Amino acid sequence: MTASLQNTIERVRLLLQERYGDRIPLALVHTYGCQQNVSDGERLKGLLALMGYGFCERPEEAELILYNTCAVRENAEDRVFGNVGALKGAKRRNPGLIIGLCGCMVQQEHIAEKLKKSYPYVDLVFGTHVLSQLPEMLLQLLGEKRRVFNLSQEDAAIPEGLPIRRDPGVKAFLPVMYGCDNFCTYCVVPYVRGRERSRKPADILAEFRELLAAGYKDITLLGQNVNSYGRGLEEEISFAGLLRLLNKEEGDFRLRFMTSHPKDATFALIDTMAQCEKVCKHFHLPVQSGSDRILREMNRRYTTADYLRLIAYARERLPGITFTTDIIVGFPGETEEDFEQTLALLKRVRYDSIFSFIYSKRVGTRAASMEDPTPPEEKSRRFQRLLEVQREIGAELLESRVGSVCRVLAEGPGRSGEGWLTGRNEDNLIVDFPGGPELVGRFVTVRIEKALSWALQGRVQE
Ligand code: SAH
Ligand code: SF4
Repeated sequence: MTASLQNTIERVRLLLQERYGDRIPLALVHTYGCQQNVSDGERLKGLLALMGYGFCERPEEAELILYNTCAVRENAEDRVFGNVGALKGAKRRNPGLIIGLCGCMVQQEHIAEKLKKSYPYVDLVFGTHVLSQLPEMLLQLLGEKRRVFNLSQEDAAIPEGLPIRRDPGVKAFLPVMYGCDNFCTYCVVPYVRGRERSRKPADILAEFRELLAAGYKDITLLGQNVNSYGRGLEEEISFAGLLRLLNKEEGDFRLRFMTSHPKDATFALIDTMAQCEKVCKHFHLPVQSGSDRILREMNRRYTTADYLRLIAYARERLPGITFTTDIIVGFPGETEEDFEQTLALLKRVRYDSIFSFIYSKRVGTRAASMEDPTPPEEKSRRFQRLLEVQREIGAELLESRVGSVCRVLAEGPGRSGEGWLTGRNEDNLIVDFPGGPELVGRFVTVRIEKALSWALQGRVQE
């Protein structure tokens, strides 16, 4: 952290003391959307804690409410507007309440304009590039008592060394890169997160070691396209190289990563997964569609044949490897035939689970100006059909695990009832088992006895 940032933090701390006296002001930070946002939220909370804020969950108790927003689909934005609308009363009851919005949604100009005009009780709006300027912005707000809107994209350098306040637990997210250069035609991320930037391996390693020292044991490396990690860095390093570097660290831990874009996923990456014993043998490989025509329209730059070659190679090198994916239903111009190809792909690959979305039109993207004649009801029907096909596959795959043995990282009390714990196995499946609190944070070997619709149940083997 720079001396000037420290100085600003100190000035805000003094202003807060003046304002609240001995009382610790509470902040509510609510994060929407993906793990990258969760990670940003942890950094924002780290800064707020240094400035003297405590944290709360209930808006009534808060002196600062910060919504860290998502823009990837329209319903995420609608939810934020709904929740912000609901804060009008809170502001009336407590005129000193600071209401802030940050993240991807507000990085879009039309959204920031709408907030400026129609939500006068929102005090603070800032985008994804200026997270580390939060103290500076609060200083302006508290000192000069004026609304602050900061959507600058200039500070694109990765701010290293910010304090981080993570929720306690065994799982943690570690960003290895920011932004995206891929411009899939449906996606707003490259517009709101800017160009791809990789963190230096030394910075990643330092944070990774901190995580291990703090007891985290299941660490997910984050990036919009981790396979292009390393581009633009001075050092010559690939994502596979980074995996090898982290895998070498001492300790009982697990490494995961997301997201891996199929166009850049290589056989060499799969070989590395096979060689690194701490890297989970589970691959989240978003395919989006099973139709080559739609993939082209989406600018995904791979064909289903390329994709299936990767899957086949991974299965050959890593017997038992499992897959998950993302699917978009109802991309502009998707026909019944295109959609059936997606269903066929699902049946062919047999994913443990899928994250599926109905296409959502995003301002400024290329797909937003494409012909989209399919009625919403038809898209909903396709979506239901997709879920039904996947439900059957997922259930069969869970059932096929009964009798098998897996390693589970115990996380805490399970949903199966009193005396049960829950955790995840290497495939990222939920496994519940009877056990006491002394097992939390430890890896245990569990024999699977039963498959439920949402999880597996088993018993710890001595
Ligand atoms: N970088 C990641 C995905 C980030 S967004 C990747 O390329 O895989 C997460 C998922 O949201 C995407 O995989 C896609 O399935 C979905 N998504 C993105 N934009 C969308 C849109 N406009 N409408 C519906 N789903 C979308
Ligand atoms: Fe969006 Fe494509 Fe970038 Fe993923 S790779 S964030 S889907 S543009």
